[in-house]
Amino acid sequence: MHPRTGNRLLDTFLEAVRIDSPSGEEATFARWCADRLAALGCEVRIDATAGLTGSDSGNVIAELAPTAVGDTLVLSAHLDTIGPGRGIEPVVEGGVVRSAGDTVLGADDKAGVAAILETLAVLRATVRPHARLRVLLTTSEEIGLRGAHALDIADCTGDLCLVLDAAGEVGGIVTGAPTHYTFSATFHGAAAHAGVQPEKGRSAVLMAAHAICAMPLGRLDAETTSNVGGISGGGATNVVPAECVLMGECRSIEAHRAEQVREAMDAAMRTAAGDAGGSVDVEWKKEYDGYRHADDHLALAIVADAVRQAGLEPRLFLTGGGSDANVLTSKGLPSIAISCGMTDVHSTGESIAVAGMEGLVRVLLAAVDRAVAS
Ligand SMILES: [Zn+2]
Repeated sequence: MHPRTGNRLLDTFLEAVRIDSPSGEEATFARWCADRLAALGCEVRIDATAGLTGSDSGNVIAELAPTAVGDTLVLSAHLDTIGPGRGIEPVVEGGVVRSAGDTVLGADDKAGVAAILETLAVLRATVRPHARLRVLLTTSEEIGLRGAHALDIADCTGDLCLVLDAAGEVGGIVTGAPTHYTFSATFHGAAAHAGVQPEKGRSAVLMAAHAICAMPLGRLDAETTSNVGGISGGGATNVVPAECVLMGECRSIEAHRAEQVREAMDAAMRTAAGDAGGSVDVEWKKEYDGYRHADDHLALAIVADAVRQAGLEPRLFLTGGGSDANVLTSKGLPSIAISCGMTDVHSTGESIAVAGMEGLVRVLLAAVDRAVAS
């Protein structure tokens, strides 16, 4: 047993991060969340997506019956944490929570989960009218937004979804996120003895090198990036390598720019292989579609209002990273990712201020108020 701090939100968060939930192994944490949500008055189910995602659990979907007329608000977070994330031991010091140092903290995304549970706990403890509320906790977000991709959106409809999964100080509102393509390419050349008859060989490593040099890479404009993230091939110094594998990606908030860069990278690989008398098999995958909300988008105004109501300053920004908001928006559930106060996510230095989580709960409560028809 761990001592309780007397702060219900913090205690919930500390308990949540101590439950291991690496991507694909969310069942224990999903059960814990489902039990909590049921105890808070929700009707809860775990959907049947486990078979589609490869996780040991489906997404957790909960619904709190309305006490007032208004828009249906969906609050969403993901159940899984990035590695190293087993045996997380949170340390609270000076109002900030970090891990003991050898794992991530898991505030990404358990700060979101804890804030949702606290919001429901406040609603239960007070007579505060609210419209229909839904909670969506997805599996395997960190390994390709799998739970969200597999979700049948008919199971979780709503007027507006807040995806509690952006880093940075509370008050941050993501107005756009990129369309994201990844690729894996295998260059085929011909092997030969490098000392005896190199002229008979066709180096797949050299083809890949030429392809990389010809690609647009890095930050291409304010909203567009690309990267070659991996290369492997060959096996011995004295053999002209017959095979080389490249992995990479490109992203842009503008879908047509993502497509342009994808085509340029693809052409660079095919030209490099062809020029050297080899060939290349390129497999592209669209990870998710991007989106961009106009600054005067009604949902943005609602969220910015809620942030102000919580006594914070709204900060609109574009992100180069994807989240469940991309997938849910393209499935027809208008979704906005908001900052949860976590910093240095995806590293063992990850931390979150308790005051940040408290601010997030105020934002959610204000959004709940705002959803009630006036
Ligand atoms: Zn996350």
